[in-house]
Amino acid sequence: MGWTETGQMRVSWSDGHTSVYTPPFLRSICPCAECQGTHGGPPKAFQILTPTQVQGADRQTQIMSVEPVGSYAICFHWGDGHKDGIYTWSYLRQSCPMSAAVAPGGNPG
Ligand SMILES: [Zn+2]
Repeated sequence: MGWTETGQMRVSWSDGHTSVYTPPFLRSICPCAECQGTHGGPPKAFQILTPTQVQGADRQTQIMSVEPVGSYAICFHWGDGHKDGIYTWSYLRQSCPMSAAVAPGGNPG
Protein backbone atom coordinates (compact mmCIF):
# COMPACT_ATOMS: atom_id res chain seq x y z
CA MET A 1 0.00 0.00 0.00
CA GLY A 2 1.01 3.61 -0.39
CA TRP A 3 -0.36 7.10 -0.39
CA THR A 4 -1.42 9.36 -3.21
CA GLU A 5 -0.29 12.97 -3.45
CA THR A 6 -3.61 14.05 -1.98
CA GLY A 7 -3.26 11.83 1.07
CA GLN A 8 -5.46 8.97 -0.01
CA MET A 9 -4.49 5.39 0.68
CA ARG A 10 -3.71 3.36 -2.40
CA VAL A 11 -3.57 -0.44 -2.43
CA SER A 12 -2.51 -2.52 -5.40
CA TRP A 13 -3.97 -6.00 -5.19
CA SER A 14 -2.43 -9.21 -6.44
CA ASP A 15 -5.25 -9.55 -8.97
CA GLY A 16 -4.22 -6.31 -10.66
CA HIS A 17 -6.94 -4.12 -9.16
CA THR A 18 -5.99 -0.84 -7.51
CA SER A 19 -8.11 0.65 -4.77
CA VAL A 20 -7.93 4.23 -3.50
CA TYR A 21 -9.48 5.14 -0.16
CA THR A 22 -9.94 8.61 1.30
CA PRO A 23 -9.35 8.94 5.06
CA PRO A 24 -13.01 9.96 5.73
CA PHE A 25 -14.15 6.88 3.86
CA LEU A 26 -11.80 4.68 5.86
CA ARG A 27 -13.11 6.17 9.09
CA SER A 28 -16.69 5.66 7.96
CA ILE A 29 -16.09 1.95 7.42
CA CYS A 30 -14.18 1.48 10.69
CA PRO A 31 -15.05 -2.10 11.58
CA CYS A 32 -14.82 -1.73 15.36
CA ALA A 33 -17.93 -2.27 17.46
CA GLU A 34 -17.99 1.33 18.66
CA CYS A 35 -18.11 2.81 15.17
CA GLN A 36 -20.40 0.22 13.65
CA GLY A 37 -22.81 0.57 16.52
CA THR A 38 -24.76 -2.17 18.18
CA HIS A 39 -28.36 -3.28 17.84
CA GLY A 40 -28.37 -2.00 14.29
CA GLY A 41 -27.86 1.61 15.31
CA PRO A 42 -26.09 4.09 13.10
CA PRO A 43 -22.30 4.32 13.26
CA LYS A 44 -21.10 6.57 16.06
CA ALA A 45 -18.25 8.05 14.11
CA PHE A 46 -20.43 10.60 12.37
CA GLN A 47 -22.97 11.35 15.03
CA ILE A 48 -21.72 14.86 15.65
CA LEU A 49 -23.86 16.32 18.39
CA THR A 50 -21.89 18.76 20.49
CA PRO A 51 -19.59 21.69 19.62
CA THR A 52 -16.71 19.69 21.06
CA GLN A 53 -17.49 16.83 18.76
CA VAL A 54 -17.82 19.20 15.83
CA GLN A 55 -14.37 20.57 16.59
CA GLY A 56 -13.08 17.03 16.67
CA ALA A 57 -14.61 16.17 13.31
CA ASP A 58 -11.49 16.97 11.35
CA ARG A 59 -9.27 14.94 13.62
CA GLN A 60 -11.68 12.05 13.35
CA THR A 61 -10.76 11.66 9.72
CA GLN A 62 -7.06 12.40 10.05
CA ILE A 63 -4.80 9.37 9.88
CA MET A 64 -1.89 9.80 12.26
CA SER A 65 -0.26 6.45 11.63
CA VAL A 66 -0.91 3.00 10.28
CA GLU A 67 0.19 -0.17 12.02
CA PRO A 68 0.29 -3.62 10.50
CA VAL A 69 -1.68 -6.26 12.37
CA GLY A 70 0.03 -9.51 11.57
CA SER A 71 0.07 -9.99 7.83
CA TYR A 72 -3.67 -9.98 7.39
CA ALA A 73 -4.77 -6.54 8.54
CA ILE A 74 -3.83 -2.96 9.33
CA CYS A 75 -4.89 -0.61 12.08
CA PHE A 76 -5.31 3.15 11.69
CA HIS A 77 -4.52 5.58 14.48
CA TRP A 78 -6.87 8.52 14.05
CA GLY A 79 -6.30 12.12 15.09
CA ASP A 80 -8.97 11.88 17.77
CA GLY A 81 -7.16 8.98 19.43
CA HIS A 82 -9.34 6.25 18.02
CA LYS A 83 -7.47 3.08 17.04
CA ASP A 84 -9.80 0.16 17.67
CA GLY A 85 -10.61 -0.72 14.09
CA ILE A 86 -8.84 -3.70 12.60
CA TYR A 87 -9.09 -3.50 8.83
CA THR A 88 -8.34 -6.85 7.27
CA TRP A 89 -7.13 -6.78 3.69
CA SER A 90 -10.14 -8.78 2.58
CA TYR A 91 -12.43 -6.27 4.31
CA LEU A 92 -10.68 -3.40 2.55
CA ARG A 93 -10.89 -5.23 -0.75
CA GLN A 94 -14.60 -5.81 -0.28
CA SER A 95 -15.08 -2.18 0.74
CA CYS A 96 -13.26 -0.80 -2.27
CA PRO A 97 -15.18 2.35 -3.21
CA MET A 98 -14.14 2.00 -6.83
CA SER A 99 -15.82 -1.28 -7.64
CA ALA A 100 -19.25 -2.30 -6.48
CA ALA A 101 -18.60 -5.94 -7.20
CA VAL A 102 -17.30 -8.04 -4.35
CA ALA A 103 -14.27 -9.82 -5.68
CA PRO A 104 -12.36 -12.63 -4.10
CA GLY A 105 -9.81 -11.32 -1.66
CA GLY A 106 -6.34 -10.67 -2.90
CA ASN A 107 -3.18 -9.63 -1.16
CA PRO A 108 -1.51 -6.25 -1.49
CA GLY A 109 1.46 -6.42 -3.70
ZN1 LIG B 1 -13.86 2.47 15.22
